[in-house]
Amino acid sequence: MLIVMRHGATDAEVQRVVAVIEEMGYRAHPMPGSQRTAVGLVGNDGRVDASRLEGLPGVQEVIQVTKPYKQVSREWKADSTVVQLGGGVTIGGTDVAVIAGPCSVETERQILEAAHQVKEAGAVILRGGAWKPRTSPYAFQGLGRPGLKLLAKAREETGLLICTEAMDPEGLGYVAEVADIIQIGARNMQNFSLLKVAGRAKKPVLLKRGMSATVEELLLSAEYVLAEGNREVILCERGIRGFDPSTRNVFDLTAIPVVHKLSHLPIIADPSHGTGLRDKVIPMARAAVAAGADGIMVEVHPSPDKALSDGAQSLFPDQFAQLMREVKVIAEVIGRRVAEPASVGA
Ligand code: PEP
Ligand code: MN
Repeated sequence: MLIVMRHGATDAEVQRVVAVIEEMGYRAHPMPGSQRTAVGLVGNDGRVDASRLEGLPGVQEVIQVTKPYKQVSREWKADSTVVQLGGGVTIGGTDVAVIAGPCSVETERQILEAAHQVKEAGAVILRGGAWKPRTSPYAFQGLGRPGLKLLAKAREETGLLICTEAMDPEGLGYVAEVADIIQIGARNMQNFSLLKVAGRAKKPVLLKRGMSATVEELLLSAEYVLAEGNREVILCERGIRGFDPSTRNVFDLTAIPVVHKLSHLPIIADPSHGTGLRDKVIPMARAAVAAGADGIMVEVHPSPDKALSDGAQSLFPDQFAQLMREVKVIAEVIGRRVAEPASVGA
């Protein structure tokens, strides 16, 4: 439920609404907006007496949020969320942020080389998994904590921010200490206990769409994170399972405008997992930016043929440089701008 204040309502009137909500046994969440302030009532069990709130001074109207997800919806918050990362990098504003790097952190040499290469081409955030969710238990599982150390070293050397995946609550604690963005992967999108832990972390969360999840399920998973108090959530379209083996997944471009309509949260696109094929990554990256994605995540490896995971979908560094040149032009056409590495540390 949302209590919309009149334009020009005083702080005291807003505070009174907050106090009444708390007296009723619910949580209040004031949200100053560009047009007016609204106060969200969190935890509505269907027994809230709306008339008690409607009658308070400064209240314009009380709105029932009709969607099953609440805090994540545009009804709850009309203004788009802009997630603020370090060094002036944002996701969800005018800038299109590019996250790039290998699927996995493999060696010090590999991750440092990749970091320098993607920075050179214009990425602002380095990706690389220290813990990898692999279909086979015999496949490379990631370096674990030493991998996080290498990511921290890469950030120190390049100024790139770090995005890396947490697979369980224990690992999430370690990831939160080092990373600038905590990634929750497709396979864990509905790991609700992990989502709750992420909701209590003090770092932004990148939540990837499950491979068989609807957009509504994605938004409900994001709601778990917001419900615990973490409002810094970035969604990610990474392809869904289809019947056609021509590509690894079906990259659902439509999810980008669909999410933008339903939610104020930013959404980025991952054309690497979305297609699974190196030669399809650039066309789909271009399409994602044209469709309004707030960023893209791309796998790039110094030697894709030697990669320990996802080599077939990883770009060669020169291909990534080409991708950057192309998406910059597309972003400008739609009134956006690809975030510049120069802004890191500015
Ligand atoms: C990844 O980003 O390397 C990854 C495992 O992605 P997803 O969870 O989308 O499969
Ligand atoms: Mn991967």
